[in-house]
Amino acid sequence: MFGFSLSKLLFTAVAIALVIYGFRWIGQMQQRNDQRFKQRKTARKPGGAATSAQRNAPSAADAGDVETMIECKICGSYVAASGARSCGRDNCPYPG
Ligand SMILES: [Zn+2]
Repeated sequence: MFGFSLSKLLFTAVAIALVIYGFRWIGQMQQRNDQRFKQRKTARKPGGAATSAQRNAPSAADAGDVETMIECKICGSYVAASGARSCGRDNCPYPG
């Protein structure tokens, strides 16, 4: 008679509620991620600049898939911090 039934109205209400709560949930997740990112950023730099020893030492958090690279002072090439090899020049600091 009116072209819409109770089940259609219910479905529409549920769909609208899902969209509203979905957007709210996404907003909360983004806020949580932002806070976590800021906390990590501040935790990484306690006093401002890190010393070169801190930068070269691979931390426990970095020891996953990421390999820390360090620059050879003599030849200027970057080698993996763990298992660095000499480039063959006389005063290269790495064994090989
Ligand atoms: Zn070298």
